[in-house]
Amino acid sequence: MNDALAFAGSWYAATAQPSPLRPALAGEARADVAIVGGGATGLSAALHLAERGARVVLLEGGRIGHGASGRNGGQIIPGLRLGAADLLARFGQERGAALFQLALSARDLVVDRIARHDIACDLTLSGHLLTAVRPRDLDDFAHEAVAAARLGYAGMAVLDAAAARAAVASPSHGGLMDAGGGHFHTLNYTLGLARAAEAAGAILHEASPVTRLERRAGGVTLHTDAGRVVAAQAILAGDALLGPLNGRVHSRIMPVANYIVTTDVLPDGGAGLIPGNQAVSDSRFVVNYFRRTPDGRLMFGGGERYSPRPPADMAAFVRPFLERSFPMLAGVGLAHAWGGLVSITRSRLPDLGRDGPVLWAHGYSGQGAVLSTLGGALLAEAATGDASRFAPFAAIAPPGFPGGALLRGPLHVLGMLWYALRDQIG
Ligand SMILES: Cc1cc2nc3c(=O)[nH]c(=O)nc-3n(C[C@H](O)[C@H](O)[C@H](O)COP(=O)(O)OP(=O)(O)OC[C@H]3O[C@@H](n4cnc5c(N)ncnc54)[C@H](O)[C@@H]3O)c2cc1C
Repeated sequence: MNDALAFAGSWYAATAQPSPLRPALAGEARADVAIVGGGATGLSAALHLAERGARVVLLEGGRIGHGASGRNGGQIIPGLRLGAADLLARFGQERGAALFQLALSARDLVVDRIARHDIACDLTLSGHLLTAVRPRDLDDFAHEAVAAARLGYAGMAVLDAAAARAAVASPSHGGLMDAGGGHFHTLNYTLGLARAAEAAGAILHEASPVTRLERRAGGVTLHTDAGRVVAAQAILAGDALLGPLNGRVHSRIMPVANYIVTTDVLPDGGAGLIPGNQAVSDSRFVVNYFRRTPDGRLMFGGGERYSPRPPADMAAFVRPFLERSFPMLAGVGLAHAWGGLVSITRSRLPDLGRDGPVLWAHGYSGQGAVLSTLGGALLAEAATGDASRFAPFAAIAPPGFPGGALLRGPLHVLGMLWYALRDQIG
């Protein structure tokens, strides 16, 4: 289904730096670690592993960055999809703080990688604003800011309605500003990670879908139609696209399609809409999210769709959500429209795990733009014998969906529709 989601029509594809075609795997290769997936998780794992001296072969089924990492909203939102208040309630002060601080380090890791490898990706650390669509959201925001402070993070501030409307020209009852947020060109970042991984010694193959994973004494063999990689360990970094390769791992996440547009270049470059150039999302369960682009457009994502088939006209599908958030943009020209698959877990916590020589990280639940780089780093550490940062996440791995891959769809759709309905009735 990913191929039907118009990646080629995305603003990211239209503004990406050139990226060389990597040859498909042919014949047999040997590696300490073989990685499935050339998104930020897999590439970050490859980079960290190669830096640790491991022999790494990464197999990407399509092009590097054509999954969620190359087409997301580019919003840098510190922390996990499950907020500080929930972490505190579920895991208590000490464990909650350790998890939260580790998650927060993802943002610094990305900033560090961008600087270290000179990745030109329009990094803008202007903050992230969560806007309140209901008055009672402000109580939750205040609660969240207090919980974050208790977990050692002082970056959040609650805005009243006037301050929120000054920050973004969209109806809201207030907001929660996170100074640590921002946005970036997620495809150029992913392509930069790929270059850095290669420079460190990792071997990357494109057009090499892994069709079979075979356990054998002393390791794992990954098969493609044209070759195989014989490795001591394997990392599954296919996220929503992993599919049948490992049904047991894949059934722990639920892929949900989500759609994004960019407007034509706006007369003021969008400065009147978001003067401070923050990344913004709203408090709806089916979230709307938006930001300015460096070439003067508004990028807007909204409206999940639980049907496996994408809408015939993605721009027309997103338009009503955009116009509800920005009535003054009614009828604005839409230059690009595309979709992607978000992988959601039952607890909204990421799923990091290990089964013998096979490790995986996925399911960042819509907040993986920077967490994926951390996920890859933790996988690399665990694969090279240091699981001290991997283990706390593995210990809170979410439960799989009831009924596995077969039933998760219909059951989850019912649940999500209920929340979408709650968005409508307030
Ligand atoms: C539309 C959309 C908007 C989003 N917006 C945001 C946002 O604004 N902020 C945020 O924090 N997060 C956002 N996210 C989530 C974020 O993009 C993801 O969590 C993150 O990119 C996941 O990275 P990944 O490397 O794990 O997976 P991916 O980037 O999807 O990479 C997985 C790769 O594995 C490959 N693959 C899968 N199976 C195989 C196989 N068998 N053989 C070979 N290759 C295989 C795929 O082709 C793919 O390239 C969004 C996601 C989507 C879809």
